[in-house]
Amino acid sequence: MCIFCDIIDHKIPSSIVYEDDDVLAILDISQVTYGHTLVMPKKHVSSALEADPSTVAKVFTCAAQLGAKIKKNTGAAGVNLLANCGEAAGQSVDHMHCHIIPRFNESDAIRIEFHPEGEKDLNEVLQTVTA
Ligand code: AMP
Ligand code: ZN
Repeated sequence: MCIFCDIIDHKIPSSIVYEDDDVLAILDISQVTYGHTLVMPKKHVSSALEADPSTVAKVFTCAAQLGAKIKKNTGAAGVNLLANCGEAAGQSVDHMHCHIIPRFNESDAIRIEFHPEGEKDLNEVLQTVTA
């Protein structure tokens, strides 16, 4: 059972922002910021890491285009396009999706901060990530 598949099949109601043959975009029920939207493929796949390239292209192209429209219509100053892939990365629904999170100011109820772990041997890191 997948809650997003049930939404796609209209078994669970949702606020549809955009829909075509391959992609559905809905308002996120949690509305972390005003206009927070989710873009998902209609075909079930766990995350972008398992999806075929055309699915990835469709979802992220839609997210970019809708992100621009939502930014304009909400008056947001910026937008985070965010895909959590895997539980360790914060994914709670096991159906690929990309968050569109309009950003207004520093009091938005979201924090994305980078805290460097410390110095790394970039040559060694490069060998690992490109192996
Ligand atoms: P993630 O944590 O990246 O997997 O994001 C899952 C998102 O799905 C969360 O932000 C939830 O608020 C959202 N969500 C869960 N159930 C629903 C639902 N029925 N309708 C809309 N959004 C939902
Ligand atoms: Zn699903």
